[in-house]
Amino acid sequence: MSETVIIDGRAAAEEVREAVRDDVPAFVARHGRPPGLVGVQVGDDPASEIYQRRKAEAAEAAGIASRRIVLPADTTQQQLDALIDELNDDDAVDGVLVQLPVPDQLSEPAIAGRIHPDKDVDGFSAGNLGRLVRGEPGSVPCTPRGVMHLLDRAEVPLEGANVVVVGRSLIVGKPLALLLTARSATVTVAHSRTRDLPGLCRGADVLVAAVGRPEMVRGEWIKRGAAVIDVGINRTDAGLVGDVAGDEAQGVAGWLTPVPGGVGPMTIAFLLANTLEAASRRLVS
Ligand code: NDP
Repeated sequence: MSETVIIDGRAAAEEVREAVRDDVPAFVARHGRPPGLVGVQVGDDPASEIYQRRKAEAAEAAGIASRRIVLPADTTQQQLDALIDELNDDDAVDGVLVQLPVPDQLSEPAIAGRIHPDKDVDGFSAGNLGRLVRGEPGSVPCTPRGVMHLLDRAEVPLEGANVVVVGRSLIVGKPLALLLTARSATVTVAHSRTRDLPGLCRGADVLVAAVGRPEMVRGEWIKRGAAVIDVGINRTDAGLVGDVAGDEAQGVAGWLTPVPGGVGPMTIAFLLANTLEAASRRLVS
């Protein structure tokens, strides 16, 4: 069995957070205030509460001014739109996040469309996704950005590589496919209707699983020496597991991200980087 390099997402995320923390004082010196991030939560879903709190704490630790706004669960689209408009117009606010999922009476596309693209630090708006397609500067969704960072940090060759991304969501699979294509990888995006997924995966030099199905990707789906990036976070009776059977991947994959401690920590780290960068772009333009 050959060695599998385990990619340490915690260490990588800490480096990104540190880099932001190191750069904030120069921003403050230049603009007279820290970058400002506002997280909006509708309702009191416990998971959303935890995510929002974690993001706020990470922002504060990096020197970013963070504010949380919690709205009642029966907030209407009109009321939420009015708040987003207010935040769009507030010059001290550089980043606006609305925690998803939102209650049924609210529309996620309407929210993504309402946040000004220059303040959309999640990168989900049509404006930012359009910038990504065009290769123009903008906020890139945090998780795909984190995956690219882990691949680069581990020095995984991408140019000309066959990459299979399993999952075509707007927050992971689609933007990641664009980022990989921009790096001259040959990208195939697989999904629930893909035929012979195991066979397709076996041809991948880089295999990314972003599905949400515990340990769906088996060891025998993996080409020897491939880089395997497991984006999945699945809560099971056995604890937190990824979309890849990690034990089976060991000794077959050349590189592997663990769950937890792989891609997971990168998302908040790049939310901080996106906020600082969005603030810098907005205030110099
Ligand atoms: P979605 O549910 O939005 O998308 C899942 C994708 O997987 C869809 O494209 C779906 O195909 C595809 N899929 C489902 N079943 C199969 C199957 N049997 N074979 C092949 N493809 C399949 O999920 P997300 O992209 O939001 O998240 C994916 C995973 O990543 C989840 O575990 C989530 O928790 C995790 N995640 C982790 C983050 C982090 O690390 N910070 C951030 C975001 C997500 P189809 O389109 O045909 O339905």
